[in-house]
Amino acid sequence: MNEMQKLVDEINKHCYNYYVLDNPTISDKEFDALYDRLVQMERETGIVLPTSPTQRVGGEILDGFEKYPHEYRLYSLDKCQTKEELLKWFNDIKAQFPAATFTTEHKFDGLSLVAMYENGQFVSAGTRGNGLVGENVSAQAKTIKSLPLQIDFKGKLIVQGEAMITLSNLKKFNENTTEQLKNARNAAAGALRNLDPKKTAERNLDFFAYTIHFAEGKNFATQAEMIEFLKQNGFNTGTYFKVNSTINQIFDEIDFLDTARHHENILLDGVVVRLNEVDKRDEFGFTAKFPKWAMAYKFDAEEVSSILKDVVWQVGRTGKLTPIAIIEPVELAGATIERATLNNFGDIQKKSVKIGSRVFVRRSNEVIPEILGLAEELPNSKEIPQPSICPSCGATLQEIGANLFCPNHDDCPEQVIDRLANFAGKHGMDIDGLSFSTIEKIYNAWGIKKLHELYELTGQEFMMLEGFDVKKGKRAKNLEKALEDSKTVAFDKFIYALGIGDVGVKTAKDLAKKFATLSDLMNAPLESILEINGIGDVVANNIFEYFRNADNIFQINKLLEYGVKIVYGEKATEFRETIFNGKTVVLTGTLQALGRTQATAILEALGASVVNTVSKKTDILIAGENAGSKLDKARALGITIIDEQRFQDEIK
Ligand code: AMP
Ligand code: ZN
Repeated sequence: MNEMQKLVDEINKHCYNYYVLDNPTISDKEFDALYDRLVQMERETGIVLPTSPTQRVGGEILDGFEKYPHEYRLYSLDKCQTKEELLKWFNDIKAQFPAATFTTEHKFDGLSLVAMYENGQFVSAGTRGNGLVGENVSAQAKTIKSLPLQIDFKGKLIVQGEAMITLSNLKKFNENTTEQLKNARNAAAGALRNLDPKKTAERNLDFFAYTIHFAEGKNFATQAEMIEFLKQNGFNTGTYFKVNSTINQIFDEIDFLDTARHHENILLDGVVVRLNEVDKRDEFGFTAKFPKWAMAYKFDAEEVSSILKDVVWQVGRTGKLTPIAIIEPVELAGATIERATLNNFGDIQKKSVKIGSRVFVRRSNEVIPEILGLAEELPNSKEIPQPSICPSCGATLQEIGANLFCPNHDDCPEQVIDRLANFAGKHGMDIDGLSFSTIEKIYNAWGIKKLHELYELTGQEFMMLEGFDVKKGKRAKNLEKALEDSKTVAFDKFIYALGIGDVGVKTAKDLAKKFATLSDLMNAPLESILEINGIGDVVANNIFEYFRNADNIFQINKLLEYGVKIVYGEKATEFRETIFNGKTVVLTGTLQALGRTQATAILEALGASVVNTVSKKTDILIAGENAGSKLDKARALGITIIDEQRFQDEIK
């Protein structure tokens, strides 16, 4: 009992932080774990304490907002995290109603919002509150551009959906302000429950409608009809909705969405599975908290919190310092995480994280996860000191914009080693056997500083390196041969190997596509570099300046003198003639067979450049199911549109 009371109190405290203050001090996943434990305890003991959070759907109402009594109670959703649990629920429904079909829907991770319409006009909107009474946020909701103020339907209508901030809007907002919003869900909640509607407007919320509580004189037979009606009346219902009849179809959808969500512009935390046939729902009814005819399948958390233990600084190939956060080990999306990036010094200041504080960590598409911001400042936490000297060579650092740089280009060990490793790596010259640790050994033995100096080394010299003299020097000979073999190199890889600031694989490919030869690239005016989609001022300048530096030109000439042969055009990468070669392609909607990542990789391998927005420069739009505004725009611009089947046929 004692233990249970303590757990209840703890969860209530977190609920208050989360729902009332919008200031959670633990991650959703940790919260869910506490909550699940309580649910299990209650089940096992049969005792439910009077203050148990399982007894209510939401939290208390903040002062300052008018109350918003709901005409139809807002229920929570029952949740599961395994396919077994979902199967059991599915079978229970099928047993009673064999013809049942099920919708799969995005589970939007935002804030519930109910909107009411009369005579075709928006009347009011309220938050969920405790499910019975919410807060009146009509003025705030009106600022949401994707929430229609007028609709065709003239009867009374009550719609429920989710107020969200898209990740791109969040990024834009953060770029233009010092007030950093760390998480899209909290940003949307804070905006909607802001007493100043102007502040709400600044954050550019979106509304995703997913269900109808009441539509005067209307009876919807299915959820699908409901969604169709919402769409017809100008509501945004998102990019995904599907009707399934078998459990395997549902499982496939879940797997697909679990991957696809990483490329979505909104936070999704699961899949809502619902009985599609509305008239059958009454037979299944409700528990005190949720409908029995719907289930939320929750994904693994994308975000967790942990304690920031220390920050170490890495010096990269251009001299830029990157702060790496050392955190207490924590599980994130199936991996144990101990390090996360803090991007740069400016980022640390913006996010105001401190050593010893609890921070949010988010999985990212990069190798290393990212620190999002402060979760909770704990006692004795201390500022992260700004380093004044380079941790590798001791040179006095320079502060340029948000970054710190070590100016010691030629004699900073970490910088030089990273530059050589980048040059030799698989995206660059691809020198077999020249690993990071071998480069360290080479650096320590001969202190080479320039890229071309690698090609001055011979097998005999490699013999002197630790571990290379074994088996009659086989390893040393192999390395000598690998150096020789690497000299024939595709243009894009050569560009990458140079290690120009911010020029990664994609930019290197774009440059190789745009410029026919190395000398074209070297002589390119700034304007023509800027013509490449996705290259901004900073990167263009890096590229332009790189080829204005005498030392860089010297190294390039030496490389060519030592026999580096650049292979241009088709021969450069494996090449097949398809309609996508050299084209700018946009993907939209749901691709059933291939995920977006895979489709993008295939297209890029075929010489296409895949971009996010449709413009006049777009050549081809690949439209999957439930394609939205991009499709409309492409039609308006007269761009070639192909469907997924055609895409499949073209790449066969
Ligand atoms: P939870 O807050 O985790 O109990 O989950 C229930 C909440 O999920 C609802 O109150 C909604 O705010 C949210 N939600 C997101 N997407 C959907 C959806 N497609 N259908 C129903 N609820 C959704
Ligand atoms: Zn240095």
